[in-house]
Amino acid sequence: MTGAVSHSADVIVIGGGIHGASTSLHLARRGYSVNLLERNRIGCHASGVNAGSIHHIPRIHFELPLAESALKVWPEIAEMLGDDCGFRRNGYLRVVETEAQFETARTAMERVRRYSSITEEWLDRGALRDLQPGLGDSITGGIWAAECGSADPARTLHAFRLNLQRAGVGLFEGCRVQAITRVGDVWHCVSATQAFQAPVLINCAGGWGGDIAALVGERFPLTRQALMMSVSARTPALLGPVVGHVGHRLSVKQALNGTYLIGGGYRGHVSDTAVHAGLDHDRLAYNLALAQHVFPTLAQAALTRCWAGLEGFAPDHAGYIGASSYSTDLWHCFGFSAHGFYLGPVVGKLLAQAIDTGDTPKVLLPFLPTRAEGGTLTH
Ligand SMILES: Cc1cc2nc3c(=O)[nH]c(=O)nc-3n(C[C@H](O)[C@H](O)[C@H](O)COP(=O)(O)OP(=O)(O)OC[C@H]3O[C@@H](n4cnc5c(N)ncnc54)[C@H](O)[C@@H]3O)c2cc1C
Repeated sequence: MTGAVSHSADVIVIGGGIHGASTSLHLARRGYSVNLLERNRIGCHASGVNAGSIHHIPRIHFELPLAESALKVWPEIAEMLGDDCGFRRNGYLRVVETEAQFETARTAMERVRRYSSITEEWLDRGALRDLQPGLGDSITGGIWAAECGSADPARTLHAFRLNLQRAGVGLFEGCRVQAITRVGDVWHCVSATQAFQAPVLINCAGGWGGDIAALVGERFPLTRQALMMSVSARTPALLGPVVGHVGHRLSVKQALNGTYLIGGGYRGHVSDTAVHAGLDHDRLAYNLALAQHVFPTLAQAALTRCWAGLEGFAPDHAGYIGASSYSTDLWHCFGFSAHGFYLGPVVGKLLAQAIDTGDTPKVLLPFLPTRAEGGTLTH
């Protein structure tokens, strides 16, 4: 694209998912002028269509301190955005059915205790049913994390959008970045019709973060996957917490409006153009049967809609967050591997702090993009 006036700002952020929105907002609140470039609409990909679970992932031990910070930030979301985003501390229950799963649960709890102060409690068969009646007969116990919960993704992204507008962030939707160059100390990004320039560039392009990095010659191991979700019709309120399973992929919750949301990371299909996601009906059927096995009442709830959203996965299932090894004025924040929604508010806050002060907070250090130098992970 030639001949167009270049929009100037202190910072260009590419990608209007929760990470781009959160980082832009926190930078604007620190006094930076920000242009946020989004190929489609703010929050229309993973950030707006996910399951809204707010909980830690015990198997990724180096994420636990960051998860702990995230669990502290969500209760303050109304203060941050002027909207509670549907956030509830309805807790996270991971159930077990077998002796082997019990052992896995024990190890997972030890790991959480070792790397964080997140409180988890073991519930036996009786205590579990006192907390949540109606669980399947084969469920023998579970891990209860009361600090966790859920939020409404679409509402959250809408709240971010309003705050970005109020904070004076330049929102450029329908703006796909096609080329990036650096001239002197300034980054230049161009779309089909517009040009942008800024001394600082942040790549928050989610599942396409690797493509953006490639435009400046950096390689990251990242695969793009479609994750499926289902929602039921409204039913009476029966399920309190977010329910997962220690031995299987599963996430079931009942929203405040009575609908059940069922997922857990089951893979659908990624379109050839890599911008659309489709369903895999066999995997979806397995997901729904498992959900019903754990919470049999689901059999009475009519399914109303299933969908899939696109997400970027790093080989170690953790996002790439921090300054690039290519340039300290280029920052990456993508590849959240199916659990980036709950991290969005805190990561944006910490990344803005790192960019503003030059000091990367300790909890972000394990996520530095330098761990993927040369296109393979170094730890
Ligand atoms: C079905 C599903 C369920 C999930 N459930 C949960 C959950 O319960 N809890 C949880 O914590 N996480 C969950 N996740 C993961 C979570 O949604 C993501 O990790 C998170 O939303 C990623 O946010 P992001 O901002 O990095 O990426 P995205 O939301 O994907 O945003 C990236 C944006 O970059 C834009 N972009 C890409 N290329 C360009 C370009 N060239 N120019 C301009 N813009 C560009 C895209 O259009 C997109 O809007 C789930 C994900 C899915 C798909």
